[in-house]
Amino acid sequence: MSMRGGGGRGRVSARDTEAQKAANAGAPKVEHLLRRIGELFKPHRRALSVTIVLVLISAGMSVLPPLLTREAFDIGLFPKSGIPDVPVLMLLVGAMVALWIASAGLGVWQTYLTATVGNTVMGRLRTRLFGHLQAMELAFFTKTKTGIIQSRLQNDVGGVADVLSNTISSVIGNTVTVIAAFVSMLVLSWQLTIVAVILLPVLLIAQRRVGQVRARIATKTQESLSDMTSITQEALSVSGILLAKSFNQQKAEIARYEAENQTQIRLQVRQQMSGQWFFAVVGIFLSVIPAIIYLVAAWLITHDVAVTAGTIVAFTTVQARLTFPLLGLLRVVLDLQTSQALFSRIFEYLDLHPAITDKPTATPVDPGQLGRVEFDQVVFRYPDAGPDTPATLKSMTFDIEPGQYAAFVGPSGAGKTTVSYLVPRFHDVSGGRVLFAGSDVRDLQQDSLVHNIGIVSQETYLFHATIAENLRYAKPDATDAELEAAARAANIHATIASFPDGYDTLVGERGYRLSGGEKQRIAIARVLLKDPAVLILDEATSALDSVSERIVQAALDTASRGRTTIAIAHRLSTVINADVIFVVDGGRIVERGTHDELVALEEGVYAKLFHEQSRAMAG
Ligand code: ADP
Repeated sequence: MSMRGGGGRGRVSARDTEAQKAANAGAPKVEHLLRRIGELFKPHRRALSVTIVLVLISAGMSVLPPLLTREAFDIGLFPKSGIPDVPVLMLLVGAMVALWIASAGLGVWQTYLTATVGNTVMGRLRTRLFGHLQAMELAFFTKTKTGIIQSRLQNDVGGVADVLSNTISSVIGNTVTVIAAFVSMLVLSWQLTIVAVILLPVLLIAQRRVGQVRARIATKTQESLSDMTSITQEALSVSGILLAKSFNQQKAEIARYEAENQTQIRLQVRQQMSGQWFFAVVGIFLSVIPAIIYLVAAWLITHDVAVTAGTIVAFTTVQARLTFPLLGLLRVVLDLQTSQALFSRIFEYLDLHPAITDKPTATPVDPGQLGRVEFDQVVFRYPDAGPDTPATLKSMTFDIEPGQYAAFVGPSGAGKTTVSYLVPRFHDVSGGRVLFAGSDVRDLQQDSLVHNIGIVSQETYLFHATIAENLRYAKPDATDAELEAAARAANIHATIASFPDGYDTLVGERGYRLSGGEKQRIAIARVLLKDPAVLILDEATSALDSVSERIVQAALDTASRGRTTIAIAHRLSTVINADVIFVVDGGRIVERGTHDELVALEEGVYAKLFHEQSRAMAG
């Protein structure tokens, strides 16, 4: 994203500066952009070639009717004999009708081809962008607003799709008409053609100016749309609504939305008007031309240039027919200039490189050492944290044997969740190594690594789908019996079975229709179906009341049997039986051992925490 001399042009808004930069940098990159857009169309070369052939045929065909018009006048209607020649006239009219029918048919075929190509290209671009975003590392999503990402996919690709599918058919159709009209005009009278086209360069210059203005407005419009999507997405989610309602902030939310909406309205009006003024002026320009042609024709006739009545009628007919296609082409150029800003925004996302990818030499997880997890002097700093902030993890070393139950405890903000993110390689370490089954996670295939890890976190995410579909997310080909077995093990089968729709019960947005404990047990059943070698529990029970906690904890105990478990715990009561407890504080492991060993350390952090919590429970 380098941008030379960017400082001088345009005021960069603080909101979506990247898009602004792309738009400012847009001008010198047009050719590059066009080449990339062209590449998108490469797979459709055949359809496009057919279209071009159709265009040429149509073009050839539409040169003829104006010439026939002249003949109809000069030979059919007003022949030298003075009496209309009906048979000739019938022939000419018949030919004209046949030509128009044929070219209308070709037009339909062309539109079908171009609409198919345009929409397919855009559809694929959308999928590519979505796929690319799936590959982006977790950090990209933690530092980008969800609404802004959604807006690129929906508003930007959508905007381009509209332009493109209209553009192809309009460019082709109008080019045909313009070329054909121009040729007919030349054949009819080159002198009058000069009069008709002399004003065109003026239009082109005006169009360029308007195009630039519109592209600028379009960038601002997309930024504002993106902000609106992000506000909507934040405010209208279940959590957002709950927050607004509980703090009585609905009015403030509406005001925030309204402010952005006003910007949007202003921009939309400006965008539409900037084009409309231009087209109004151009329209007047083009309609005045016939009048000028009559005058010039009179002048030509008085200067002994032969111009027949038929020629003048045919010429002005053609010229009038030229107006709309010409306006259409100008509009297309404008639209393309506008969509250039959108394309820049789309390509900008496609050009992002995922920070975490497989090495070419990456291997699958070694089944021999499955279940072993080690940290070797791991240092980690969040990518979006400033360089001056201390590292979140400072030289952390530990070793968890296959099948062990390891608990991580310590104050909030100590770095426990961060540890759980580094095992499945959601982030890459800043120093040291994370080893999974004996290999550095950076040398493993991500698919294989993640396949062997199951995560149950405090905030369970369930899709708005049936319980069965949510469970099969872990194993698409799981049988009903497998679903039930997993649900039984997770202590949730009886609850599901009591619902009228059983496993086909729809889960509300983010599972809000289920209680926290039920959701959590469904999440555990989901992980059991995945059957991973390593299970990560990130404060899986800390959001629950004590009754639900006991039920969920029982399910978790079943789930962790026979596999390595990394449990991040808030309540120490859940870790008493752990094989090993790591006490984390300030990004370091400050104590390690079993519950009994750690309680025995008189001045120990763990002992203090344990006594505090026991007192709280007793009191
Ligand atoms: P714990 O799970 O022990 O409560 P975390 O691992 O969640 O602690 O967080 C450790 C530290 O890292 C905290 O100070 C937190 O503010 C910081 N942190 C967490 N996530 C991010 C992030 N995405 N970017 C920057 N800092 C983060």
